[in-house]
Amino acid sequence: MSRDKLVTNALPYANGPLHLGHMLGMIQADTWVRFQRMRGQRCFFFCGDDAHGTPIMLKAREQGKTNEALIGEIYASHLKDVHSFNINFDCYHTTHSPENEALAGDLFLKLKSKGYIDKRTITQAYDPKENMFLPDRYVKGECPKCGALDQYGDSCEVCGATYSPLDLKNPVSAISGATPISKESEHYFFKLTSFEKELKEWMKSGTLQKEVANKLKEWFEAGLHDWDITRDAPYFGFKIPGEDDKYFYVWMDAPIGYFSSMMHFAKNHAEFNFDEMVRHGKADLYHFVGKDIIYFHALFWPAMLSGADMIKPTGIFSSGFITVNGQKMSKSRGTFIEAQQYLSLFSPTYLRYYYCAKSSAAVDDIDFESNDFTARVNSDLVGKYVNIASRCAPFMKSHFNNTLGSEYDQHLIKMLTTESETIADFYNTREYGKAAREIMRLADEVNAYIATEKPWEVAKTDDKAKLLLICTTAMNAFRLLSLYLTPMVPDLTAKAAQFLNSDFKTWHTKPLLNHTIHDYVPMIGRIDLNEVLKMTDAPKPEDKPADIAPAVIENNEIAIEDFMKIDLRIAKIIEAESVPEADKLVRLTLDLGPMGKRQVFAGIKSAYSPEQLLGQLTVMVSNLKPRKMRFGMSEGMVLAASGEEGPGIYILTPHEGAQPGMRVK
Ligand SMILES: [Zn+2]
Repeated sequence: MSRDKLVTNALPYANGPLHLGHMLGMIQADTWVRFQRMRGQRCFFFCGDDAHGTPIMLKAREQGKTNEALIGEIYASHLKDVHSFNINFDCYHTTHSPENEALAGDLFLKLKSKGYIDKRTITQAYDPKENMFLPDRYVKGECPKCGALDQYGDSCEVCGATYSPLDLKNPVSAISGATPISKESEHYFFKLTSFEKELKEWMKSGTLQKEVANKLKEWFEAGLHDWDITRDAPYFGFKIPGEDDKYFYVWMDAPIGYFSSMMHFAKNHAEFNFDEMVRHGKADLYHFVGKDIIYFHALFWPAMLSGADMIKPTGIFSSGFITVNGQKMSKSRGTFIEAQQYLSLFSPTYLRYYYCAKSSAAVDDIDFESNDFTARVNSDLVGKYVNIASRCAPFMKSHFNNTLGSEYDQHLIKMLTTESETIADFYNTREYGKAAREIMRLADEVNAYIATEKPWEVAKTDDKAKLLLICTTAMNAFRLLSLYLTPMVPDLTAKAAQFLNSDFKTWHTKPLLNHTIHDYVPMIGRIDLNEVLKMTDAPKPEDKPADIAPAVIENNEIAIEDFMKIDLRIAKIIEAESVPEADKLVRLTLDLGPMGKRQVFAGIKSAYSPEQLLGQLTVMVSNLKPRKMRFGMSEGMVLAASGEEGPGIYILTPHEGAQPGMRVK
């Protein structure tokens, strides 16, 4: 008997509904847990909401609610989605719980008593209007390195530089608009650097995927830093023991939430001994996380656990991001798909299968591609798998009163059972895509068998024995395929279990003989591509761009007031570089004289080399609402002429003597 497994899924943040990105990790983790349980492993599965931090506090304030009211509503919506997708958590708890408060306090005191926590005075950006310290993301200003406008306080999206918010030029508080001041405060730091050697050893234990281990190596090479685990009031979180106005940083108590979810579960489940497993190392711990939170899970978390003498993770499995039709999920592009929106149109089974069919053990991004989604579901689940049952079931009912025979085609069934361990191994190593391909290859073999044996023709003859053998074979093949698909699509195979009068609770390949099944009822329908496109391509109502007013009126005339709304300015191109990841884009830095500098991404790469553009004067729309692009902010638009056809693009340039910043009217 192998050791008990404790499996967790990354805790969704309690400031918005679940979306298709959240569902990837949950589906991958749930598939693994279901497989382990079918194999007879004791495997417990935990999650919950991550309910603390400044963004939640500000959102509650914005909505005129208490923090507790906001996270309560979000919790209910997350739980509903989790159930709808049949994610089988033993407990879905919240980090804003008494268990978590007690555990976070204990862990802190233990680490402190062992000398792993100390107090230091730090200087931070402070909003004098709101009377609060500002998290990095709530200070905006110009990048100290490249001068790009409107950058966050921790890093520049244009040049990639990282810095402190106090380094920004012309900083403003994103909360009040006030200019932040520097202010000192005493903070507790967790000495991550004390664990460097141990973390390096732990990394060699095979706990991490190759990509994650490489990322860690980079961090080690860059040098570890001790970790500030304190936030000053006002803050939504747990007070630090012994302090009045200092709180644990949300990332301190978030992973502890895995354990508080376990403790909550243990209250009603005597068989689950938390202390034995977590404090005395009697279980293995596995975390499914997104690649954006590896730093916390692979550095801080194991170091904290080690300092507090608790079990360290046996496996950290990271998933990539979801893109929709090749695009990053984005509200303005309409590619941001909430779980509820998906569920209003489609069965969760489709998404579960699609994600699994595209998953591997590596940290891969997965593209939700409308045509591919439709084709895979229709071809694999409907065309190959369910088709086997629907083709043969009518003969079972009309000729044999739904009772299977005692003989079957040895060759075909053996072909299916032989692959049982290969498929199991794919599941165990999280190679779900390989499992899906292998199962569908077997489904092809079964369909080929039915096509060759032609039960519909045998049914017209007197050879009932042959017809029974074909149908018994097909039903047993269908049972095996259902068994193999169960970790991925449990809802669908529950219908198959009902039809076969059987179950898939354990991974066994024993045939069903002289066994009575039920009448066949359709199990799954085909997807209509148009419905998928409605979901992926439709702009969401809340995202209609309000800044593009319909200035063009009938017969193409606009009023002078409309034209005057457009602030056209002379701009000098002082920097130009092509964007390697984009076919058409050049990044320009434009000097508007007294109006300062702007960054604009212009689609003129086909016509100009960056060198040709340097030093040129041109005309730009300076009051276009800044747009966040994949490569950074675009803060305006450069005017250029082009014909309806042909390659020409010509930027506009003013006559000699025009100065940067002059208004064009
Ligand atoms: Zn920069």
